[in-house]
Amino acid sequence: MDLRSDKPYALLRHGLGYVYPSIRKHIKADVAIMGAGITGALVAWHLIQKGIQPVILDRRHAGMGSTAASTSLLQYEIDTPLHKLIRQVGEKNAVLSYLLCRQAIYDLHEIAKKLPEKPAFELRPSFQYASYNSHVKDLEKEYLLRKRAGINLQLLTANDVKNLFGFQKGGGLLSADGGIIDAYPFTHALLKHAQDKGAIVYDNTAVTHIDYDYNNVVLQTEWGHKVTAKKLIIACGYESHHYLPKKIERLHSTYALISEPFFGKDFWHENALIWETANPYLYMRPSSDNRILIGGKDDAFYNPTRRDANIARKTRQLENSFHKLFPHIPLRTDFAWAGTFASTKDGLPFIGSIPERPNTLFALGFGGNGITFSLLAAQIISDLLSGKNNANGKLFSFDRRGAGVA
Ligand SMILES: Cc1cc2nc3c(=O)[nH]c(=O)nc-3n(C[C@H](O)[C@H](O)[C@H](O)COP(=O)(O)OP(=O)(O)OC[C@H]3O[C@@H](n4cnc5c(N)ncnc54)[C@H](O)[C@@H]3O)c2cc1C
Repeated sequence: MDLRSDKPYALLRHGLGYVYPSIRKHIKADVAIMGAGITGALVAWHLIQKGIQPVILDRRHAGMGSTAASTSLLQYEIDTPLHKLIRQVGEKNAVLSYLLCRQAIYDLHEIAKKLPEKPAFELRPSFQYASYNSHVKDLEKEYLLRKRAGINLQLLTANDVKNLFGFQKGGGLLSADGGIIDAYPFTHALLKHAQDKGAIVYDNTAVTHIDYDYNNVVLQTEWGHKVTAKKLIIACGYESHHYLPKKIERLHSTYALISEPFFGKDFWHENALIWETANPYLYMRPSSDNRILIGGKDDAFYNPTRRDANIARKTRQLENSFHKLFPHIPLRTDFAWAGTFASTKDGLPFIGSIPERPNTLFALGFGGNGITFSLLAAQIISDLLSGKNNANGKLFSFDRRGAGVA
């Protein structure tokens, strides 16, 4: 698959990162991970903490799939608002999903602090405005439910929005919990650390065939060498559907830009992450290098040629939407890119096993919160592989209530 356009900003800014060799011999391992994006890297980090040294294989270079295109907002707010998610999966599961995503932000922060490379991480509030006045009622409902769940947030009036953000909207929700971490350098820092602790990473090594067995899993690679593992983790991002018997996700195209750098550092209230209630939604955040990153204008198709041909037009649309909100900020685009992403029916990820694929676990963080979902997948899977029960696994299982194609 073609997951993204050629020049996402993270790649231009951070370059190739670490590179790893391709496989040159047959290997036996307790655990093999397919995919060295942020999901595979977080799974590897968690396994290392539990004394398991995985073998990680990627057909590209590490982090070069969707991870390199990510705009890296860390939000606990799942694409499906809590009041709708409750209808789909029940109140207990919906609230727990929100709380786990909130905790994931802080867990990611702790991991970043522990890594020798100290990848930049910033906690930021998250602000969702009502795109239309008719959406305010739903935000009020959402506010009460999240408050009841113990989430720290404020319901803003139109006046509050004007005072804090300077634009005219009927209301919004300002949540205390949110963050940013650039997914691409973070992935490299995680993989390097895993390698230093005994993991083996192979770049440029496509798995071309898998034999699932009741004793082990045998991965055939493009170079003719095999990896035989007791357990396999599939963390192939939006390419993971090749390994599933039925469709569970819908693919979309999405667009992003980053501005030229500004001299000032304060753009709006606490430089919050901003998004809106419309679907697809516009979102934005200041970057750690004083630029403004904007994304959205999604298309409901996977066609990389059409997607990439749209970049110039979508960039203008993103700029126009930004200028309507912030006419006083003289934003000029420096770089623009596009990528594919996947959504699920209930907005939740798929984590765990299916009977058709013995000894295999899937870590599929589909949805707008891909990175926080990757963290949850890593926690659940590493617990399972180290023999610890993780009750949260049921929330994201393939046979949960509410599962299905978006
Ligand atoms: C433009 C854009 C903006 C986004 N913004 C956000 C955001 O703000 N916040 C957020 O949380 N999420 C965001 N996401 C989603 C997030 O980036 C993804 O959820 C995340 O990067 C997925 O990581 P991954 O490791 O699962 O997949 P990937 O990064 O794609 O990694 C999977 C890896 O598996 C490898 N692979 C596949 N098949 C094989 C095979 N047969 N053999 C060997 N290797 C294989 C691929 O080469 C790839 O490197 C965004 C996505 C896009 C495209």
